[in-house]
Amino acid sequence: MHQIIILGSGPAGLTAALYAARAHLKPLVVDGQDAGGQLTLTTMVENFPGFPDGLKGPDLIASMRKQAQRFGASFRGGSASAAELSRRPFRITIDGAEEECQALIIATGASAKLLGLESERKLMGHGVSTCATCDGFFFQNQEIIVVGGGDSAMEEAIFLTKFAQRVTVVHRRDKLRASKIMQEKASKNPKIDFTWDSIPDEILDVNQGKVTGVRIRNLRTSAVTERPVDGIFIAIGHTPNTQIFRHLMEMDELGYIETHDGTKTSVPGVFAAGDVQDRVYRQAITAAGSGCMAAMDAERFLEHAGH
Ligand code: NAP
Repeated sequence: MHQIIILGSGPAGLTAALYAARAHLKPLVVDGQDAGGQLTLTTMVENFPGFPDGLKGPDLIASMRKQAQRFGASFRGGSASAAELSRRPFRITIDGAEEECQALIIATGASAKLLGLESERKLMGHGVSTCATCDGFFFQNQEIIVVGGGDSAMEEAIFLTKFAQRVTVVHRRDKLRASKIMQEKASKNPKIDFTWDSIPDEILDVNQGKVTGVRIRNLRTSAVTERPVDGIFIAIGHTPNTQIFRHLMEMDELGYIETHDGTKTSVPGVFAAGDVQDRVYRQAITAAGSGCMAAMDAERFLEHAGH
């Protein structure tokens, strides 16, 4: 029986683990499917306060993990496949085995949707990115493609014009899904142009280990063109990793967990931190901040519950 189980090992889960461990609650952290979360998909992180020279995403995660371990957090691999939250102790199934806990922190994050190309996976962090705020700075005066037609794609494209020479939005239809105001902003920006009815069907060049171009297929005409670019930002939406909690607690229409009064969910004793409950900010620092809040909220809950 654990006092606290933390699901997820990104900045939210690891910060929750650090605070819970320092409160002598001996948290068990369950790594999840992609241990370390989205930061492990980036190269340099330059906007995490305290590191004036920046650091690599995977290094930041490794340091956070070490810090939580130093105070007594324990870790196990695997991901939760089912949860029984109707009464305490809560029961969580992890790779077929059951673990029990008095309080649960869900920090399972969100996954950026990807196009599903092999080259996209291989060049992730080497010109392929899912986060303009994180990586835009590396594309000074360069040519960039943003894939998607929603608010995220418009926001990323507009943000990237601060750095890039030109940003081309590649969208699979001839109408944007984005809100009118974002459409207008993007359309008025002289550095942004649009390629309609199209999707990238190959990112070049895996052999060189960096992005040098994109092959674009027009879905109406099937014509294929190759375009030299330095970076490609995939902005086709995120999916919160909340599948196993559907019907167990309140979520918004996109499946993000609803929190109130800090990190409380609609189930007493269950807290949510990081991208799993945040569709707006989605930054490492905000995730870490909410992980800290979740650990403090869980500690208070356990104290009142007499554990
Ligand atoms: P979204 O609204 O779901 O848009 C995703 C876009 O990606 C759509 O244009 C979609 O095309 C395209 N897409 C999806 N799968 C694709 C695929 N496999 N290949 C090519 N294109 C694909 O997601 P979002 O833009 O991330 O926004 C999510 C939510 O957050 C929305 O409610 C949005 O309003 C909100 N948000 C708001 C702001 C803001 O107000 N500043 C900023 C960001 C996000 P189709 O259009 O053809 O489906």
